[in-house]
Amino acid sequence: MRIRNHPIIDFKKKRKIPFYFNKRKIYGEEGDTIASALHANDVKVLSHSLRYDRPRGFFCGIGKCSSCFMTVDDIPNVRTCIMPVKKDIKVMEQDKGGELSNKQFIDKDKKRIDVEIVIVGSGPAGLMAALAAAQQGASVLLIDENHMVGGQLVKQTHRFFGSREEKAGMRGIEIAVELMEKVAENKENIQLMLATTVIGCYNGKKRHKLIAVQKLVDGDHLFEINGNKIIVACGALENMLAFPGNDLPGVYGAGGVQTLMNVYGVKPGNRVLMVGAGNVGLIVSYQLLQAGVTVDRVVEVMPRIGGYHVHAAKLRRCGVPIYTSHSIKEAYGKGKVEGAVVVEVDDYCQPIPGTEENISCDTICLAVGLTPSIRLIEQIGVRTEFILEAGGHVAVHDSSMQTNVRGIYIAGDSSGIEEASTAMIEGQLAGVSAATSLGYDKNAREVKRKCRSALKVFRSGPFGEIPRIGKEKIACCRRNGGLTY
Ligand SMILES: Cc1cc2nc3c(=O)[nH]c(=O)nc-3n(C[C@H](O)[C@H](O)[C@H](O)COP(=O)(O)OP(=O)(O)OC[C@H]3O[C@@H](n4cnc5c(N)ncnc54)[C@H](O)[C@@H]3O)c2cc1C
Repeated sequence: MRIRNHPIIDFKKKRKIPFYFNKRKIYGEEGDTIASALHANDVKVLSHSLRYDRPRGFFCGIGKCSSCFMTVDDIPNVRTCIMPVKKDIKVMEQDKGGELSNKQFIDKDKKRIDVEIVIVGSGPAGLMAALAAAQQGASVLLIDENHMVGGQLVKQTHRFFGSREEKAGMRGIEIAVELMEKVAENKENIQLMLATTVIGCYNGKKRHKLIAVQKLVDGDHLFEINGNKIIVACGALENMLAFPGNDLPGVYGAGGVQTLMNVYGVKPGNRVLMVGAGNVGLIVSYQLLQAGVTVDRVVEVMPRIGGYHVHAAKLRRCGVPIYTSHSIKEAYGKGKVEGAVVVEVDDYCQPIPGTEENISCDTICLAVGLTPSIRLIEQIGVRTEFILEAGGHVAVHDSSMQTNVRGIYIAGDSSGIEEASTAMIEGQLAGVSAATSLGYDKNAREVKRKCRSALKVFRSGPFGEIPRIGKEKIACCRRNGGLTY
């Protein structure tokens, strides 16, 4: 399952790492997570469901869901999709329930950190927020639960669109490296904590408090982090689709597949059905071909392709058909995906009887949208509203990205689903705004003005229309206290 020849990424053979899966010795490679190492060994079943004992595989690949939970060295509920593989660890399908063990926390006493600005999430929004706040002179703590910075950028091998200022023409993986280097150059102002999940968020009178768990080689460590300002840039979660067999191992989120292939160099399978012809579905389909995987077809429930036509044309040139007004009816297989039934739909997206087609595939990839991650800000009492065009429930925020709770800012996909380019600008805006509210000011007004006008340009084109409406509705909620027009 390892990808060795790739047109863009150099997947060299790396040092082998032995570990145990259900008491059997197998090997991963340096840089693997536990889940990617298991996939490379063709292990797709990571656990079984509590009630009906149905096999479960991983889904999101970025630590946002629970389908990859396993017991590692007697510690249950380890998110194996973001936990690096280590020599001789013992990985087991977990006992039902996955009760917490005493081994979980190494130190029972929390360590305390005090800092001016805390940023949760080091994707494009968080990285730019950190750089912008640091440039103003503020001291920043940047936290991410992954073991690398960059969020979704680290798997994006395609070139970005947009303007030069927003890195058009560069690949996401290159942007991630550039931003990472800039953060490293700003060591005096930016402190970085990786492999650290923020699990709690509390509102204080002057300062806000976060509770975080850092996973180190010797176990979990607990932190209490106090910040004058907090910027939440936690990204988004991939959407699931309801159909029989959607829980079979081999049904993945498109972003999960992209992570497996482009970050860890592991193929998700050999023959893929892609569901969704938005940009994500089209881009990931092309990247599957680059990895040497066959894409049987792309099905799209809407009568039109949602993504850029340049991406669709590339796929068609490679012989991949795109069926609009089609969807998946069911997935089937014994223990893992062995095939799927696709069906034509009518104007109301209802299956048309008699149009079912059986296709053979071992992987079904769902590219059916993202939902903003608002778990943390909800804890602190930030006002949220359901806004379809923004991807679901989002935090109501002002033009400086501040929420209704003073000192809590939001940026990127967490503030409404959009793009990495706009996530970077929103991050910059949030970073400068948080820093200026602490009294720092190095031409801050001009930076904010530039950010706002760049966002306006991005949202003025036809592909910016939906997020623009989403943001207008958010602004309307803030002004009127509700969605009234
Ligand atoms: C397949 C795919 C292709 C795409 N292609 C493009 C493209 O071509 N051009 C473009 O502009 N955009 C593209 N996008 C969209 C773009 O990737 C996102 O809009 C962008 O990454 C959002 O940035 P972000 O910083 O808000 O979130 P993310 O990049 O998702 O970063 C969020 C970070 O927060 C961390 N985190 C979350 N919760 C916690 C917590 N509790 N504690 C600690 N850390 C946490 C995560 O580990 C992650 O690193 C694509 C997206 C996908 C999925």
